[in-house]
Amino acid sequence: MFNEKMYALGSKRSIIREIFEYCKTRAAKIGSDKVFDFSIGNPSVEPPKEISDTICDLIKNESAVLLHGYTSAQGDLGTREAIASDINNRFGAGVSANNIYMTCGAAASLTISLRALFNEGDECIVFAPFFTEYRVFIENAGGKVVVSVPEEKTFQINVSDFEKRITEKTRAVIINSPNNPSGVVYSEETIKAVCDVLNKKEKEYSHPIYLIADEPYRELVFDDIKVPYLMNYYNDTIVCYSYSKALSLPGERIGYIAVSPKAEDSQNVYLAICGAGRSLGYVCAPSLFQQVIKKTIGAKVDVNIYKENRDILYGALSEYGYECVQPDGAFYLFVKALEDDAYKFFEKAKQKEILVVPCDDFGVSGYVRIAYCVDKQRIVNALPAFKALAEEYKK
Ligand code: PLP
Repeated sequence: MFNEKMYALGSKRSIIREIFEYCKTRAAKIGSDKVFDFSIGNPSVEPPKEISDTICDLIKNESAVLLHGYTSAQGDLGTREAIASDINNRFGAGVSANNIYMTCGAAASLTISLRALFNEGDECIVFAPFFTEYRVFIENAGGKVVVSVPEEKTFQINVSDFEKRITEKTRAVIINSPNNPSGVVYSEETIKAVCDVLNKKEKEYSHPIYLIADEPYRELVFDDIKVPYLMNYYNDTIVCYSYSKALSLPGERIGYIAVSPKAEDSQNVYLAICGAGRSLGYVCAPSLFQQVIKKTIGAKVDVNIYKENRDILYGALSEYGYECVQPDGAFYLFVKALEDDAYKFFEKAKQKEILVVPCDDFGVSGYVRIAYCVDKQRIVNALPAFKALAEEYKK
């Protein structure tokens, strides 16, 4: 016997994984240069050189027993202090090491935070389009997903729709900006309006409603766009951060949770996070990478490589007649399918060896996501196929 819910999750892959696996088989058959795989958000830019230099240095000069040993359950104190002081230098948020919990990336940050906050039947509002795994994480924590629809065309948060979705049972709200899959950065005006609503509703219901900032793409923004730091706008904020995309380290599984010191009962929320980490077996995040992060605070990937990809793809697709949402960050282009059914459009694109992701599971139908975290040449080579596809629809 086993748990049926877990079996269902394990036996049905996410659509992104499904397409990604297809791409691998197809590439083995016809050659990888002939398959235009835009399915998965795996960073294509090298990690900063400081990362490999620091790994070598640590391995050469530090005690292997300490380097590969357990840290404190919530993470190495020195690493948490370094992260806290970086957050304070950049955003003036007043956090300390006692507000930071080291994790295995944003997925762990989210699952731990949701588990720490939720009681059975609590509701969690997500803004469409949203990362598909939110549904899995929220439901696994005993919560119920409530989807708020976006503003048309801009894909900013529709604040009046959001307000209508809040009930007495709303325990948390997840904001992901820059957004996967739209690439949209929520404006400061939008964030302020969302926080005004939350403050009002907290008073009305006399309990905290937590704002969870899912931030794996915070550092991937173009043209000096600013991403508001949510702790500075709303007290009951929990930041779920990850180095997966920021430093191109998705396989190393490293990130953190930061609980705002201004949150109601902040230290007890932090202790609930420690408890959730313990109950899920997410203690002592990878030790070597905690040390790497401590010593490379401030390191950055070259975002201009993604920006160049965005400019080529956005420019060309707009010219061919595709309706694209202007992405200011992350590495995704959100494109309106050329027919109502995004799956049918996906199938037609697939015939031209273009692999994109239909976005119904992200809470918006009729759109596809193009992950442009790929070699520039793949984008350039795919453009004639995108053009031919658009022309086919015009006939
Ligand atoms: N949140 C969003 C919006 C994502 O796009 C991803 C990964 O693609 C994650 C969370 C999980 O990131 P991590 O690899 O750090 O667990």
